[in-house]
Amino acid sequence: AKRSGGNQYRFHTMEMNAAFQRHVELEAYLRKALERGEFTLLYQPQVELDGERLIGVEALIRWNCAELGLISPAQFIPVAEQTGLIRSIGHWVLEEACREAKRWEACGGGHVEISVNVSAGQFMQPDFVSRVRSILSSTGLAPQRLCLEITESMVVHNLQATLTMLQELAELGIRIAMDDFGTGYSSLSVIKQLPISTIKIDRSFMGDLTKEDADRSIVPAIISMSTTLGKKVVAEGVETSEQLQLLKRMGCDTAQGYYFSRPLTASALIRYFQYGVEK
Ligand code: C2E
Ligand code: CA
Ligand code: CA
Ligand code: CA
Repeated sequence: AKRSGGNQYRFHTMEMNAAFQRHVELEAYLRKALERGEFTLLYQPQVELDGERLIGVEALIRWNCAELGLISPAQFIPVAEQTGLIRSIGHWVLEEACREAKRWEACGGGHVEISVNVSAGQFMQPDFVSRVRSILSSTGLAPQRLCLEITESMVVHNLQATLTMLQELAELGIRIAMDDFGTGYSSLSVIKQLPISTIKIDRSFMGDLTKEDADRSIVPAIISMSTTLGKKVVAEGVETSEQLQLLKRMGCDTAQGYYFSRPLTASALIRYFQYGVEK
């Protein structure tokens, strides 16, 4: 370690201690969160741009910790990953999402696809595919209504194992989406090899859409590549009608973002099925 500025050194140590303590604290409460029933799911609509029809929702976890209050998934999912807790949390998310999606059949949402985020530590369990299969059979959800969102890093780190598992899942009839596309390193040739039905364009590109510079050309490039490969495209983080108009013109199929709706509670989503929402 560098000693030059003694104060600076101490400052870094303090910062690291604070981060470590926060991690320890989150971990301790996270261990109890499932049994204490502190997790809920919200559902964010995905809208087909041609006609603006609701065709799917993404399940997003929320943690309301008795001691710490609301903690965002960006904070606790990494801790869950590092501690292995992601396996039981991820299993709960998948089961709850499938159970809920099955209920929608009785209230006007029987056609709606449910997308569930899967993290690396969850996906890499040897029994992941059989867990998915047993959740589908216990909830009675048609596999065609389930989409699993994976990320580029999962693929890059272990291509052969990932490919085998994705093929098994695809054979069950489940759809697979590549989340946050454009932020990682997976190439066109990798995407081509995988049984992926959907590409989700990362929200960081939406801000560039309305700019004049070269960044703007990334989105149409992803859209035309995906379309050529026969994949559905979902634009994430659409916040303005200007972005929406540009995406439509570029031939994007589907979008998700605050412009259409924030993530909704299960009961608000059912009202959305019945009445829609005003923007
Ligand atoms: P993600 O999978 O990329 O999810 C999209 C995130 O963008 C969500 O944040 C959503 O609320 C937010 N978002 C949606 N539309 C807009 C928009 O128009 N503008 C802006 N600024 N943001 C928008 P959230 O719910 O905080 O989740 C953050 C991340 O945590 C997710 O990113 C995902 O990586 C992870 N996550 C959430 N739920 C789960 C889960 O059940 N399991 C796992 N493994 N990860 C999850
Ligand atoms: Ca996602
Ligand atoms: Ca995403
Ligand atoms: Ca993201």
